[in-house]
Amino acid sequence: MGFDGIIRAYCKLDPVTPGYATYLDYSMPNKTYRCPVCGYPELDTPPYNEQGSASFYICPCCGIEFGYDDAKTSYEELRQRWLERGAPWFSRTTAPPPDWSATDQLVRANLKE
Ligand SMILES: [Zn+2]
Repeated sequence: MGFDGIIRAYCKLDPVTPGYATYLDYSMPNKTYRCPVCGYPELDTPPYNEQGSASFYICPCCGIEFGYDDAKTSYEELRQRWLERGAPWFSRTTAPPPDWSATDQLVRANLKE
């Protein structure tokens, strides 16, 4: 896969050369973050920002809300509860990746003992 950010092309009057010049504006490729509970690697928002503030983002995989569900419960315990429920895919709006497997995901994230 190549560049997956957003490329905007726009034309603007060039003050030096007569005519128009085309500029390409590369915005940052979408960075993704890993859920510390279920290991889902495609969170588009970090659970906590650099200042340590919770994003209140809900993981589409395990359904925990950062800053809320993890305020009083450890990631290990949240993971355990999710596994006890059968590790279901949480989101109804975000589809799981093709061939998604909770076990494989945990193994890849080194979260499975
Ligand atoms: Zn998760």
